Amino acid sequence: KYMTAKQIRETWLNYFKERGHQIEPSASLIPVNDPTLLWINAGVAPLKKYFDGTETPRSKRITNLQKSIRTNDIDNVGKTARHHTFFEMMGNFSIGDYFKEEAIGFGYEILTDAKYFGMPKEKLYITYYPDDLVAKETWVKLGIHPTHLIPLETNFWEIGAGPSGPCTEIYFDRGEGYDLRGPELIANDIENERYIEIWNIVFSQYNADPKLPRSSYKELPNKNIDTGAGLERFACVLQGTKTNFETDLHYPVIQKTEILSGVTYEGQMAFKVISDHIKTLTFAISDGATLSNEGRGYVLRRILRRAIKYGRSIQLMEPFLYKLVDDVVLMMKSFYPDLESKKEIVKKIIYKEEVKFFATISDGEKHLIQSIKDHKLDGKEAFKLYDTYGFPIELTMEYAEENQITVDKDGFYQELEIQKTRSRDARKVNQSMKSQDESFLQFTEKSLFVGYETLQVEAKVI
Ligand code: ATP
Ligand code: MG
Ligand code: MG
Ligand code: MG
Repeated sequence: KYMTAKQIRETWLNYFKERGHQIEPSASLIPVNDPTLLWINAGVAPLKKYFDGTETPRSKRITNLQKSIRTNDIDNVGKTARHHTFFEMMGNFSIGDYFKEEAIGFGYEILTDAKYFGMPKEKLYITYYPDDLVAKETWVKLGIHPTHLIPLETNFWEIGAGPSGPCTEIYFDRGEGYDLRGPELIANDIENERYIEIWNIVFSQYNADPKLPRSSYKELPNKNIDTGAGLERFACVLQGTKTNFETDLHYPVIQKTEILSGVTYEGQMAFKVISDHIKTLTFAISDGATLSNEGRGYVLRRILRRAIKYGRSIQLMEPFLYKLVDDVVLMMKSFYPDLESKKEIVKKIIYKEEVKFFATISDGEKHLIQSIKDHKLDGKEAFKLYDTYGFPIELTMEYAEENQITVDKDGFYQELEIQKTRSRDARKVNQSMKSQDESFLQFTEKSLFVGYETLQVEAKVI
């Protein structure tokens, strides 16, 4: 059943509203009174105050559609069909109200009933925690074939002591066409994406005590339901697109990027990264985030620079991201009307930063040319370019490739390692910020370089 993003959002919120859920508006991406989080990264994040009892909700049943940022997924953006740094998470929550059977019942009905998403039940595969036979039997009773139910040891949510519990996750089978195997997967450096995870339903059921085996955890007096379903993944499945990026939640931005670059979109990672990152930048800056050299601002700055680096691979050699803001706003403003009033300031901030980074690139290039000796660039020089000029190693490699220069990569990484050890000791990163954004803050140039290599592979494929 074909559905636009707008229809998916409305279907979700109305379905749960009709079943007694209060619609909670999407909260700012910047957490309020929560120093443990850098960004709101799930629908439950801004509702934590209700789950831990700091505030009493007006209704024990809540539904929402929450803007989310997950920078820990950055390396997957454009590589998998389904990951973004910015996405919208649809959720339904029970705070000490209904529990497992009802939650699964809602899940089954909204997914399969033709009045709602109308997904054939034959296409659904469901994982459950092996000990959670109630979850399994509930799905079977509703009509899911037992062979579509997969026990999974990892389906258990637990963060130290406190509320914890099993979860059940719903996957959509996109058919044999997506069933790449063996060499194909390796050649394309992707995972099998025939089965896409679309929804996670968490049963907050036990009081975890890390000293005990799970089977001895005590049941919580008030059990909760917390669920999260990715809007872009629903759109991908319901619109029948190859990846999330050809849906109406990304494609308009990709089309504009085609116009700006003069390059035709054929699935290149660069288009996907740009489209994803500009959405993150537009929403985060609209919510009041800035670009800076630490914390949240630093994360955004890296995201912007990363988008520009990918832009270069499709011949975008001057500021372009700011031009995509209009398209993001046009695409999203019916649900997020605030975007419109912030648009001009967002564009200005992005433009200024782009100009600065493009200037860095051109200074770095000049220095690079001076540093080459006998068609070689030694590791120390490459590192100085990176460290002093802010010239990313991928750009050095790009230049080297174009001009038949060899770069002492090992030497570069040695220098980088020395510096990392030095700064690791010096830098005080907020513990929790670290847990959310670890892979991003420790986003080493080495992992960036892997991105560059992938880019090269992509370029060859095209
Ligand atoms: P995956 O295994 O695909 O990385 P996840 O298990 O990390 O997803 P959850 O933490 O269970 O995701 O989040 C709930 C839902 O939110 C997922 O089922 C998915 O639909 C959506 N989602 C999670 N991460 C992303 C992302 N980076 N981009 C888009 N949608 C996402
Ligand atoms: Mg994930
Ligand atoms: Mg998962
Ligand atoms: Mg999951």
